[in-house]
Amino acid sequence: MSNVKEVRHFINGAYVSGGQGEFENINPATGRFESKVHEADRNLVDQAVAAARSALNGEWGRLTVEARSKMLCAVADGINARFDEFLEAEIADTGKPVNLASHIDIPRGAANFTVFAELLKAFPTEAFQQDTPTGYGALNYSVRKPRGVLGVICPWNLPLLLMTWKVGPALACGNTVVVKPSEETPTTAAMLGEVMNDVGVPHGVYNVVQGLGPDSAGQYLTEHPDVDGITFTGETVTGEAIMKQAARGIRPVSMELGGKNAGVVFADADLDKAVAGSMRSVFANCGQVCLNTERLYVERPIFEEFVERLSKGAGETVFGDPMSTETASGPLISEQHREKVLGYYEKAKADGAEVHTGGGVPGVGGDYDGGWWIQPTVWTGLEETDAAVKEEIFGPCVHVQPFDEQDEAVAMANDTDYGLATSIWTENLTKAHQVADQIDVGITWVNCWFLRDLRTPFGGSKASGIGREGGQHAFEFYTEHRNICIQL
Ligand code: NAD
Repeated sequence: MSNVKEVRHFINGAYVSGGQGEFENINPATGRFESKVHEADRNLVDQAVAAARSALNGEWGRLTVEARSKMLCAVADGINARFDEFLEAEIADTGKPVNLASHIDIPRGAANFTVFAELLKAFPTEAFQQDTPTGYGALNYSVRKPRGVLGVICPWNLPLLLMTWKVGPALACGNTVVVKPSEETPTTAAMLGEVMNDVGVPHGVYNVVQGLGPDSAGQYLTEHPDVDGITFTGETVTGEAIMKQAARGIRPVSMELGGKNAGVVFADADLDKAVAGSMRSVFANCGQVCLNTERLYVERPIFEEFVERLSKGAGETVFGDPMSTETASGPLISEQHREKVLGYYEKAKADGAEVHTGGGVPGVGGDYDGGWWIQPTVWTGLEETDAAVKEEIFGPCVHVQPFDEQDEAVAMANDTDYGLATSIWTENLTKAHQVADQIDVGITWVNCWFLRDLRTPFGGSKASGIGREGGQHAFEFYTEHRNICIQL
C-alpha cells in the first residue's frame, strides 16, 4: 500500500476520491511534496450539491435553533479536541509559524462556530403594527429563512479561519454548504468533515470539493444552477469572474476581496507602539493577510526615526522551522507567489526606491533552503503612482511616505481602488476621530491592528468587497427575509 498522503473530497458524510485528476500539495517551508490532492470534476460537484440540497430538505432543515447551536458548539469542541492535528496540518500547508497558527488560525477556526451559534439564539424578529383605513389594522412580522445551498470559495492565507468564518454563520442560519478550499491549502477543510461526523452533523450539511478555480471545482461550483448563493474570499479579479458565473440564475454573492491598506502615523503617536504595531500590520503572516498594511504615511518630524526603527525590526526577523516558537516569519505560499512578490521588489528598485532593508531572499539553511522564503522589505522614495504603491502585492513589504498635513495623508490613503482597512496612530483623540471618518474603508483601527471582536461588521468598500461578515451582519447574507402581514 502506498504511504503517500492523499487529500480527498468530503461528500454526504464520506471521503471520496477521484475526479478530473490530481495535483500536488507542496509544503511552502521546504518546497517538498506534502500530499496528493484529488481534483473534483463536474460530476462530483453535482453530487456534493445534491447532498447539500437533500440535507437542507431533511433532518437539518427541521432542527430547532437551540439544537443547531448546540451542534455547532460541539463542532468547536471537536476542533479543539484535535487542536494539535489541525495545527500541524495548517502549518504543513502554509508554512506559517506555530506562534501564529496556535494563537490565531486554529482557535479562531473553533470560535467561528460558537460565536455565531450564540448570536443566532439572541437574534430578534422584527414586527410592525400597521394602521389600516378600516378595522383593527395589520400586524407585520418578518422571519429569516436559510438562503439554501451555499457555495463557499476560500483563499489560502488563513485557511481554516476564513473558511469557518463563512461555514459557522452559514450553518448557524440553517443553510448547507459545499466548500471549495484553496488548491494551496486543502487539508484542514477536509479534516473538518470528520469532526462534523463525530459530533453528529447530518450527512450532506457540510461538503468539500477539492480543486482549482477556472475549469475546475471553483468554476463548476459557482456556476452550478442548484447553488443558491456564493460566498467568496480572495482576489478582486477572481471576485469579478465569480460574479459573472453567479449572474446565471441571479444568485447573490458575498465578497471579501483584496486591499492596499494604508497606515497613518502622526508625530504625536506613541512611537514605540506605532513601530511595534506597524511591524505586525506590515509583516504578520509574511504579509499575506488581506488586512496587512502595504502603504505607510508618516508625519515628517518622525519620518526618519520611524523608517529606521521599522527597518531595523524587519531586518532582525527570525526565519526557520515553523514549529519553533523562535520563528517569527514563515515563507510565502508558493513559488509562483514568490515570483510575483520578487517581481515587485525588482520593479520598486527600478522605479527608484531606496531599499532600507530586505529586497531579496534570505538564506534559511538546512531543510528550509528549498522553501519560498522572502525578506521583509521597507522602501521609501517611490511616487504614489508607482506599481509597488498602487497594486496589492500580498507580501512582507511596505512603502513609507512622509506627509506634512493631515488632509494630505488622508488624500494619499484614499487614492486607491481598494477600501478594506486602515490603522491610525496618534495620541490626539480629535485627529483619530477625524481621520477615521475620512478614510474610506470598512475597518479602521486606532493605535492597534487586527484587534478583532467577532460581533462587529467585517468587510471592505470599493473594490475590497460586497457585504459584511461578522456578528449579526453576516446573517444578512446567510438568510432570506420573509415578511408576513396579518390583517387583524
Ligand atoms: P484567489 O482569488 O486566487 O483564490 C481564491 C479562491 O478562488 C481559491 O479557492 C481559487 O481556487 C478560487 N478561484 C479562482 N478562480 C476561480 C473561478 N474562476 N471560479 C471559482 N473559484 C475560483 O485568492 P488567493 O490568492 O487564494 O488569496 C489571496 C487574495 O485574497 C488576496 O487578494 C487577499 O487580499 C484576498 N483576501 C481577502 C480577504 C478579505 O477578507 N477581504 C481575506 C483574505 C484574503
